[in-house]
Amino acid sequence: MNSEIVIAGAGLAGACAALALAPYTRVLVLDDGRPGASHAAAGLVNPFLGRKAKRAWRATDALDALARLAESSDVPLQLGGLLRPARDERQAEVFRQRAAAHPERLRWLSPGSSREAHPAVRAPHGALWVREGGHVEIPRLVEAVLSEARHRGAEVLHARLAGWSGGRDGRLVVRSESAEAPEIRTRTLLLCTGDGTRALAPDLPLQRVKGQTLQLAAPPDLRIPPVSGAGYVVPLAPGEVVVGATFEHSFTTLAPTPEAAEDLRQRAAALVPVLEGADVLEARAGVRLTVPASVRPGRLPLLGPVASGVWAFTGLGAKGLLTAPLLAQHLPEWLADPGAIWPEVSTLA
Ligand SMILES: Cc1cc2nc3c(=O)[nH]c(=O)nc-3n(C[C@H](O)[C@H](O)[C@H](O)COP(=O)(O)OP(=O)(O)OC[C@H]3O[C@@H](n4cnc5c(N)ncnc54)[C@H](O)[C@@H]3O)c2cc1C
Repeated sequence: MNSEIVIAGAGLAGACAALALAPYTRVLVLDDGRPGASHAAAGLVNPFLGRKAKRAWRATDALDALARLAESSDVPLQLGGLLRPARDERQAEVFRQRAAAHPERLRWLSPGSSREAHPAVRAPHGALWVREGGHVEIPRLVEAVLSEARHRGAEVLHARLAGWSGGRDGRLVVRSESAEAPEIRTRTLLLCTGDGTRALAPDLPLQRVKGQTLQLAAPPDLRIPPVSGAGYVVPLAPGEVVVGATFEHSFTTLAPTPEAAEDLRQRAAALVPVLEGADVLEARAGVRLTVPASVRPGRLPLLGPVASGVWAFTGLGAKGLLTAPLLAQHLPEWLADPGAIWPEVSTLA
């Protein structure tokens, strides 16, 4: 079998890459079908991150790229706003300052205004309203983006990438665990393999952080925006919310655990008290592959060549929605000119 580019991994990174490249070149996606981080993710879109609500990297372009992706794949991107209750008076003061610095994007809500606008959410210190924030269901988005990539000519094979070697004609020979295509000759192999990347490209500086989410049954008449405090609560369908997420730097199982479920239930009830004692509908877990802040400030992803003919697009960490669509849309030009990759994310920098 021949292909111009083989993309290994069909999570958020692989799906976005396939969609961006399919109109230009022959794309084959290999995915082993194991649920990765994209399967566990809640799908919060928060362009003002962390305790200090700092504007995310290239946030305006990232939001545009995400909106275009959602539009092309027909998955609703719900950017109606996001509420960030302050944890204490100190954080409230930081949030007030942020709101004053970005009046077009942020609004400070006093405890009374927050209660009036969002009575189901507990915000005793007030809350920051992030106008561009919101939510999109990542597993649905990934599926729809892959389907659109197929429509644009990409092929998708359910198979594990087993390895590769250099071919005599300067192309790579990619080995897959598929009887249909055990060997594929290609010009470029793009590793979008999430947690699997550590085994395939062991020299990349990547850290594993396990995360868990819970889907909880909620009262059908619960009206809340996506809420992000010490944890987050995101409304899904009526009667259902997703609660996230844990950040576990050491763990012995990749499966969801009862301890994390209890922790998440408590966080949900602290933010939205009516969720106290809510039934758990589903628990999910995944590993966020993250570039340590000591290597790249801002924990930005890694993209670029890692060996002859082999590229990586990984390390999306906890904010894949704000990086994968943005970076993927530049892949066609960057594959032709690796020197043009933004140095903040380039493997060559
Ligand atoms: C609990 C949790 C909550 C999160 N919440 C949010 C959020 O609210 N907002 C946000 O923006 N981000 C969130 N994230 C982060 C986001 O999910 C990730 O940044 C993003 O999904 C990573 O995508 P990926 O494609 O790099 O990796 P993955 O989704 O892990 O995909 C990698 C794929 O490669 C496949 N694979 C691996 N090895 C091989 C191989 N050898 N051959 C073939 N296929 C292979 C895997 O099976 C998998 O399908 C969250 C993450 C977690 C874990």
